[in-house]
Amino acid sequence: MTGTADRRRFLLNTGALALAAAAGSTGAWAQEKSKDAAGTKIVLLGTKGGPRVGGGRKNPATLLMIGGVPYVIDCGYGVSEQLVKAGVPLQNLRYIFFTHLHSDHNLEYGPLVYNAWATGLKQRVDAYGPKTLKHQTLAYFDSMKFDIDIRIDDEGKPDPRKLVVPHEFFDNGLVMENADVKVTATRVRHPPIADAYALRFDTKDRSVVISGDTNYSPELIELAKGADVLLHEVLYVPGLDSLLKRVTNAATLREHIVASHTTTEDVGRVAAAAGVKKLVLHHFVPGDDPSITDEMWTEGVRKHYSGDLVVGRDLMVI
Ligand SMILES: [Zn+2]
Ligand SMILES: [Zn+2]
Repeated sequence: MTGTADRRRFLLNTGALALAAAAGSTGAWAQEKSKDAAGTKIVLLGTKGGPRVGGGRKNPATLLMIGGVPYVIDCGYGVSEQLVKAGVPLQNLRYIFFTHLHSDHNLEYGPLVYNAWATGLKQRVDAYGPKTLKHQTLAYFDSMKFDIDIRIDDEGKPDPRKLVVPHEFFDNGLVMENADVKVTATRVRHPPIADAYALRFDTKDRSVVISGDTNYSPELIELAKGADVLLHEVLYVPGLDSLLKRVTNAATLREHIVASHTTTEDVGRVAAAAGVKKLVLHHFVPGDDPSITDEMWTEGVRKHYSGDLVVGRDLMVI
């Protein structure tokens, strides 16, 4: 993290954007956008792994601001509200990416697009994700057809079904590229989901890798080689017993978690092998147990990785 002062400045900047947008002042928005355009910022929107809603950390979502444009990676429940808190006007939504389609990563996909449309979205939104994303997009709009059709007629809104363009990717390699960023994917190890990916964003000033959900993955090490920042999911195994006491209807949850997530020690191994400059822990499992301290999250990591290490928190700017 670049420090509290930086975060405050970013929130002030983007807060000004929100006010400018609310006042319909596109001039101020353009000015602030050009100021932001110089760099790539990462904002952790939600850092709790898993679909349960509760106090503490919010469900998974990450924001990259690249050239003043928001790129949202994963849409856990609460992503719309977290974007607003980060100072991003929802009508500026432009790009969405999914690492995989577990519900803690896509439960608020449709509602985010809807909320952006309700706030004044006019431009196209490109969404990238594994197969079934097209079906999910159409199915969501279908479920909201009654309301959407009424508002188009009654309020003179554009048809959101024409604004959102889902793109499915099926394998390793290039996901998308524009003048500001190149996005590549590699399949990671998150059984039983085969279509689970890590994503790498190479911009003009930074390379950022998001692990997605995965167990220890040599493929992720390859993708993250030399990256400036690696955002990695993390599992604290001793915290599992109390987590499982809180979830009473999932008989094989322990087996799923252990098979499909990365222990603190293995996160350290991955970051060291990839030679990343900064490692940011997020998607904490368990993410709602205040008895697990920052030291407990980092102790295992530190056995293997000696670089810059950050314990992520919601709305932290990196
Ligand atoms: Zn997850
Ligand atoms: Zn998952």
